[in-house]
Amino acid sequence: MKTKKFEGKNGSSLIYLDESVSNLDSYLTADKNIIITDRNVGKLYSSSFPDAEIIEIEPGEKSKNLRTVEHIYERFLDCEIDRHSFVIGIGGGVVCDIAGFAASTYMRGMGFAFVPTTLLAQVDASIGGKNGVNFKGYKNIIGTIDQPDFVLMDHKFFETLPMKEVQNGFAEVIKSAAIYSKDLFRFLEDNQETVPDLESKAIKRIIGETVDIKLQIVSKDEFEEGERRKLNFGHTFGHAIEKNSSYTHGEAVSMGMVMAVDISVSRGLLPPADAERLKRVIKNYGLPHKIDMDTEQLRDAIRKDKKRTGDMVKFVFLKDIGDGVIMDIPLSEF
Ligand code: ADP
Ligand code: ZN
Repeated sequence: MKTKKFEGKNGSSLIYLDESVSNLDSYLTADKNIIITDRNVGKLYSSSFPDAEIIEIEPGEKSKNLRTVEHIYERFLDCEIDRHSFVIGIGGGVVCDIAGFAASTYMRGMGFAFVPTTLLAQVDASIGGKNGVNFKGYKNIIGTIDQPDFVLMDHKFFETLPMKEVQNGFAEVIKSAAIYSKDLFRFLEDNQETVPDLESKAIKRIIGETVDIKLQIVSKDEFEEGERRKLNFGHTFGHAIEKNSSYTHGEAVSMGMVMAVDISVSRGLLPPADAERLKRVIKNYGLPHKIDMDTEQLRDAIRKDKKRTGDMVKFVFLKDIGDGVIMDIPLSEF
């Protein structure tokens, strides 16, 4: 087992890599623990959960709203949870986002932890302390930045993860490499055959490095005033595509990255050969490398992106593989 530490402004977080959920119990110190999970994860894994009250939510992004949070608060009341109780979110990104939000708002904040069960949640959603829900069609517009006490990562969960979900996670891995690490990017290129096999050593290295990238970025800018925005690479278009189609988050972000490198090339920031490298990696990890979407619909959806200030959009370009840059561009340029 390896441990990484993140020092946030309002507290620190420990990240246990290669740990087993069967040891979760040994990290719990509160008198009362409450687990938030979703129906799928609960069905598959509740037998390895420690002894605690369990709140099960419906799986999927459609649960990421205030109604679900209200239901969780009601259950907290029923179970006589107080500020000294401890919340554990066990599930994918949706569960982590909601559990973190409920825990960081109930009674002005209680302790909480995550056990991320998808690749996406391990490399992205569980790290960095962003918790929240969607509201009126705006993604993640209501939320908190509050670090979990710990994040426990167990590879065992990948055994049951559907291929679509694995690919979803790889989109965030590719994103992190593209904006921050030439080495990780090359590793992804060189190990296309073995990496998607989630039993392999390669995947452990990839998770460790992607978590490191996120921790480095978030350490520099926990509250997203600058550097952290780079993690939105591919996401401005990605969120717009996701909202107006049935593409998964990973697929939409992949197309968003393709658009972002195309614009980077047309602005003379990135050599065309590097844009091709990114598209090749996206394709080789089973993700879409071509855009299939109506421009007018996209423009409208981008207008609704919460990261927009006035008519300008904060957009992440690439100027090299492993080097993302943030620039303000006018909406009209799209
Ligand atoms: P993400 O982590 O991609 O943000 P979700 O939290 O929506 O996404 O999880 C994606 C789907 O995968 C959900 O239906 C969830 O119940 C399911 N899921 C999560 N973890 C596992 C797992 N280890 N095995 C099988 N299915 C899982
Ligand atoms: Zn994402």
